[in-house]
Amino acid sequence: MNPPDTLSETWVDSHAHLFMVEEASETVLARAVEAGVEWVLCPGVDVESSMQSREISRRLPDRVLWSAGLHPHSASEWPSVAGRIADLAQHADAIGECGLDWYRNLAPRDDQLNAFGDQLQLAVDLGKPIIIHCRDAFRDVYEMLERFDLGERAVLHCWTGGSKWTKRFRDLGVTFSFAGPLTYRGDETLRLAARHAPRDRTMVETDSPYLTPEPLRGESNEPANVAITGATLADVWGLDIDEVAKLTSQTASRVFGSPRG
Ligand SMILES: [Zn+2]
Repeated sequence: MNPPDTLSETWVDSHAHLFMVEEASETVLARAVEAGVEWVLCPGVDVESSMQSREISRRLPDRVLWSAGLHPHSASEWPSVAGRIADLAQHADAIGECGLDWYRNLAPRDDQLNAFGDQLQLAVDLGKPIIIHCRDAFRDVYEMLERFDLGERAVLHCWTGGSKWTKRFRDLGVTFSFAGPLTYRGDETLRLAARHAPRDRTMVETDSPYLTPEPLRGESNEPANVAITGATLADVWGLDIDEVAKLTSQTASRVFGSPRG
C-alpha cells in the first residue's frame, strides 16, 4: 500500500518484539514513522527480553513503550524468575506477554496456569495493563479474566477467536488487538468475528517479526506494516481508514499511556 503524501492520522503498533528484529530499532522505527506509525509497544517474553525492551524504550523514549512478562511457552521458569519479572514490572508500562497456549503446549498446563495467574495478580496489584497470549485456550483465559476483573486493561493480543468468543470477551470489557492473520486470505472466520470487536476497545499490532500481513507474507515483519492490518479492519468495519487509525490509536494511548505523556 502507498502511504498518502500528507498523513492525516497516525497508527500505534501495540505489539512488536523489537529485540527480535534483526535491524537496529532506530532504523526500524524510522521506517515506521515514515509509514505513519506514532509509537510502538515492545513486549518482553522473559527476563532477558524484558530488559532488552526496557533498554530500547530508554534509547527511543518518544517512540517505544515496553512491558515485562513471561510467555506461556516458558511458564515452567516462573518460580525462578517471578521476583525479577515483578521488579521489572514496577517500572514497565505493562505486564506481559503472558497467557495460555493449549495449541503448542510447550509448558505443562499447570505451569502455564500458575504463571498466568500470578502475572494477572501482578497487573491488579500494580494497576497496570496486561498483554495476553491466548491460543486455543479461550475458555480458560475467559474464566481467569472473569476472576481478576481487569476490564479494558486486559489486552488480548493477536486475537484469533471466532464470533462467539469475540462477543463473550467483548461483554467482559477487555481490549482486543488484531495482527496480520486478519489479512490472511483463508481467514474469513476471523474477519467475520472482528465485526463484533468494539470500535472503542480495539487496537492493531504487527507482532513483529512474526505474522507478516498479506501481501508481504514470507518477509520479516516490522511496525511499518501495521497500517495494512488497520486497512483490513477498516474494510471489515466499513469505516474510513483514517477513522480506524484514530480509534485504535486512542485506545492504545488510553490503555497503555503514550510515550509523549
Ligand atoms: Zn508476541
